[in-house]
Amino acid sequence: MSIGALILIILVYLFLCFVLYQLGKGKKSGGVAFGLVSLFFTPVVGFIWFFFAQNKMVTMETRYRCPECKFEFTQQHKHCPHCKDKGREVILIEVQRNMV
Ligand SMILES: [Zn+2]
Repeated sequence: MSIGALILIILVYLFLCFVLYQLGKGKKSGGVAFGLVSLFFTPVVGFIWFFFAQNKMVTMETRYRCPECKFEFTQQHKHCPHCKDKGREVILIEVQRNMV
């Protein structure tokens, strides 16, 4: 086998590891884990793992955040209950949170 062919094989190998690193970002285990497995156990193993791996579960959840005490509530209130106890009426701000 010539040196050129060997370099080409190594480049393709590294490219496949990089592809799995990118694909793995959408999985629960993460891109780095997929990249390393592909590098040490060949990208074939990486691809097999990829097809059986769990997807990252990302759901958006609405929270209500108090700008005064920074407390977040899962339920909507007209005013922050914490601050209301201290005699202040603070209107809660609606925020979106990533739940993984
Ligand atoms: Zn508050």
